[in-house]
Amino acid sequence: MHEFVYQAAPARIVFGSGTLKRLPAEAERLGLRRLLVLSTAGQAAQGWAVAELLGGACAGVFAGAVMHTPVAVTEKALAVATELKADGIVAIGGGSTTGLGKAITLRTGLPQIVLPTTYAGSEMTPVLGETADGVKKTQSSSKILPGTVIYDVELTLGLPPAISATSGVNAIAHAAEALYARDGNPIVALMAQEGIRALARALPQIVEAPEDAEARSDALYGAWLCGMCLGAVGMALHHKLCHTLGGSFDLPHAETHTIVLPHALAYNAPAAPQAMARIAAALGSDDALAGLDELLERLQVKRGLKQIGMPAAGIERAADLAIANPYWNPRAIERSALRELIRRAYAGEPPRADL
Ligand code: NAD
Repeated sequence: MHEFVYQAAPARIVFGSGTLKRLPAEAERLGLRRLLVLSTAGQAAQGWAVAELLGGACAGVFAGAVMHTPVAVTEKALAVATELKADGIVAIGGGSTTGLGKAITLRTGLPQIVLPTTYAGSEMTPVLGETADGVKKTQSSSKILPGTVIYDVELTLGLPPAISATSGVNAIAHAAEALYARDGNPIVALMAQEGIRALARALPQIVEAPEDAEARSDALYGAWLCGMCLGAVGMALHHKLCHTLGGSFDLPHAETHTIVLPHALAYNAPAAPQAMARIAAALGSDDALAGLDELLERLQVKRGLKQIGMPAAGIERAADLAIANPYWNPRAIERSALRELIRRAYAGEPPRADL
């Protein structure tokens, strides 16, 4: 017999291909007339295209979003929003741009419309991670959950295959940890299994043919489901460890998740057999860890943290930091086992469940 609490996050989702053109109507629906458009520098052209589409309802563009939401960047964007008397935010991009939008909303209460262009899933969560003085801190508030999310498959067609692969595995990680979450429930489990299934099928196809609209549509649908899992239940070892590693060594977010996931799942597998069975089924494999390994091989992703800039000296520090703030995990976290997990992930060695 199940006993659970399920709290649905209120958000309006518009999903499809070419849905960007519905942005002006969505802005009007919210009564917004002076929108500030956010993007990274690399996606400035997309930001300006959105501004053009909004016409008179656009107050300006801030194309300075960067990864891990540094407070200094938020303050700059905030000054622009104030100067332009913006009455809302449009964020076009991945988790970095969405994060900037959330950081502005946290401080101003401005409503947000998000146009996701990666599979990170931040648009579906009330969580914000901000970095100041090299330390990343996370907070959660229903005030910062984006009210309207427009998923347009066309916006993802140009996401480079390598980023698509790791971003998709980042999404799979949300669903995998949701399946053994302490506050998990049957609705989230359904979304998680379906999200992993859709992404695992679509990602290899995207790596081979990045403009395959059907595969892109499946991946974005899977990413939405995985994002909902991340927003609905608590995460454990995998997310806490990636958060520590990313914030401490300024590692790229999605690649860090991709490298750590097999190790974190192997560590937790003995304590979470039902979750592992669901992950295996979603991956179309008899075994979750073997299925994930096969997927990562097909995606040709990097497997060692040393390949993405983590220093060897960081292993001890990461182990210390990762046990400094205790959190719930299906299997108890021991420093020596965790240190070995980090060392193996650093070196790119195969994961082990018997650490
Ligand atoms: P990102 O937003 O930094 O994007 C990676 C790069 O790809 C950027 O240079 C971006 O401009 C570019 N890009 C994105 N979409 C593109 C497209 N369609 N075509 C071409 N280039 C494109 O990376 P991300 O992995 O999406 O987000 C990572 C950040 O999001 C981290 O700071 C992470 O902490 C945060 N995040 C937060 C949550 C949350 O719930 N709070 C969830 C996931 C990620």
